[in-house]
Amino acid sequence: MVGPPKTLQDLRRVEGAVRVTCRACKAVKQHDLEELIIDRRFRRLSMEWEAVRRTMPCRKCDSTDTRVDGVPFGQDDVERRARRSRALLMNLALAVLDDASRRARDEDVCVPATRLALRVLRPYLPDRELLVTFWTAAETGRGKPHGPALQAMRWIVTKLVDAGHPVWAEFR
Ligand SMILES: [Zn+2]
Repeated sequence: MVGPPKTLQDLRRVEGAVRVTCRACKAVKQHDLEELIIDRRFRRLSMEWEAVRRTMPCRKCDSTDTRVDGVPFGQDDVERRARRSRALLMNLALAVLDDASRRARDEDVCVPATRLALRVLRPYLPDRELLVTFWTAAETGRGKPHGPALQAMRWIVTKLVDAGHPVWAEFR
């Protein structure tokens, strides 16, 4: 990443969590980054990192006199970084599929990028059934108003979320 993070999403590449330290009651609360993104999206709050830093209240006493930090991965935190790295790979694959599913009605998206994304997702699903469903929907869905590829994308996301995989908020 070049320069400081501008949004919460930018934090994904370098930090693992967001820590709120209350100056009033001294409570410290560590927030999981993805849960925070989902929560703020749901409540229609800003994703701008500066806004987050200014406005995160203390969970204990509601004071807004807080210090908000991104918590970087420790150098020795190999397993955690590996997990983040796998999560990034999975979500990038979902970004490719999401994009393809939106274009599938109007153009041919049965291209190597889509095939690669499906392959990347295979280890995260119990079997290949939904991946085949997506490919078939992409092949046959052109010109169809209901967007079968969009539906297949939603099924894949639901399956991943149900299995506890860290799917980014924008795909849920
Ligand atoms: Zn407090």
